[in-house]
Amino acid sequence: MLSLRDKSLLTANAYVDGTWICADDQGIDVTNPADGSLVGRVPSLSREMVQRAIDAAEAAREDWAARPARQRAVLLRRWYDLIIENADDLAQILTAEQGKPLSEAKAEIVSNAAYLEWFGEEAKRVYGEVIPAPAADRRFIVLKQPIGVCAAITPWNFPNGMITRKAGPALAAGCPIIVKPASQTPLSALALAVLAERAGIPKGVFQVVTGKAQMIGTLFCKNPTVAKISFTGSTEVGRWLITESADGIKRLSLELGGNAPFIVFEDADLDAAVQGAMMAKFRNSGQTCVCANRIYVHESVADEFAYRLAQAAEKLVVGVGSDPATEQGPLIDRAAVEKVTRHLQDALDRGARVLTGGGPHALGGTWFQPTVITGVSPDALVAREETFAPLAAIISFSSDDEAIALANATEFGLAAYFYSRDLARVFRVAEKLEAGMVGVNTGALASEAAPFGGVKQSGIGREGSRHGIDEYLEMKYLCLAGL
Ligand code: ADP
Repeated sequence: MLSLRDKSLLTANAYVDGTWICADDQGIDVTNPADGSLVGRVPSLSREMVQRAIDAAEAAREDWAARPARQRAVLLRRWYDLIIENADDLAQILTAEQGKPLSEAKAEIVSNAAYLEWFGEEAKRVYGEVIPAPAADRRFIVLKQPIGVCAAITPWNFPNGMITRKAGPALAAGCPIIVKPASQTPLSALALAVLAERAGIPKGVFQVVTGKAQMIGTLFCKNPTVAKISFTGSTEVGRWLITESADGIKRLSLELGGNAPFIVFEDADLDAAVQGAMMAKFRNSGQTCVCANRIYVHESVADEFAYRLAQAAEKLVVGVGSDPATEQGPLIDRAAVEKVTRHLQDALDRGARVLTGGGPHALGGTWFQPTVITGVSPDALVAREETFAPLAAIISFSSDDEAIALANATEFGLAAYFYSRDLARVFRVAEKLEAGMVGVNTGALASEAAPFGGVKQSGIGREGSRHGIDEYLEMKYLCLAGL
């Protein structure tokens, strides 16, 4: 049982056109990954109901876009304040449906609510442009206008934060947004909708639809009213969205899979590198798209680093997320356990050695032991595919060029990390890594003030920073002639 200060935040009703829609027989059960218990039952909305959400967004669009930026900013700020005030309750809801430790749930909520505050402020700075024209009787002006009705499809690993990250810039730019949260974790999205309504965000401007992913995704892709889709999830589904929305030449922002390299050079501060690797590898039990997946360590320090990392991993407190002492919760489902087991076995078959962990946790269920393996082959599955689990795979290298080549040998390009104290090396390596984001001497890099996103098959577009709002704006060029 959750002990919420404000029980009204826990709702299983979808939020369409300012009304709350409850589940019928066709509902989707939301279960707690820690024990399989039922947390709620959300509706599996019909096609007509999703269409109603799109129509409601369209009906709200003009008024929302026409409001002065300052008015939109005030509402975003109010929503932000309500999220911060209720962060403890929201964290409980998040942990109940997702499994992560309460402290991480709260950190997710607070750090990503910051996107509402940030973009509320940015709304006031959507500057156009006056371009010196090449003819005396002409003036060139560029307006920036909201793109129109937006849809967001969000994942289960950050059920709260991935929504505020998208809703912040969309609403700030003047676009209504409809969110389709992951079916495993819709309750965090619905709690955000409760607070959006309370903040005074007009009906139709922020909506949450729950139901069958493919049906809703297809509707978003095919409906001409939906001008843009923002998606965070797997590369496979991202690719499908591109294809599905090709007919309508839809605008897309895609935050897709990662396979982040984490490189430790021989001149690194090893303690700092171990601390960074713990953060980059074990946060959310390894279930983040920016998680370190492949840890490359210079051969001269590989044994020492591996030993220290294993010691730190062994100390992690594994348990139910709702226990304040817990540092590692369960994985999201059985399929996640099967995947990491496959990656681990493959690495062992190729000669890797287990330093700590090495299999499912004694707690049973979907818990997996924080695991460190060393002597991993660069060809192992764990080095090629996103593992999304608490398996730290250490691979040694002997030169900078080799480390860079290994790091770049992937179709992904989201985050990369490296540790070095040599300034020339820092610039050389940072510039050569094929990634949208590079953490230098840190294992945590996300911030509302910085552009988050990937290159190669890790995605299109950026969230956060002053650039993030452009994803929801179109440029219109005015050519004034005969002056
Ligand atoms: P993961 O493997 O992390 O679950 P997915 O890409 O499958 O990542 O899921 C991310 C989001 O995409 C979820 O909200 C999920 O429901 C949604 N999704 C999955 N398949 C489709 C699809 N065919 N069309 C639209 N959305 C989808």
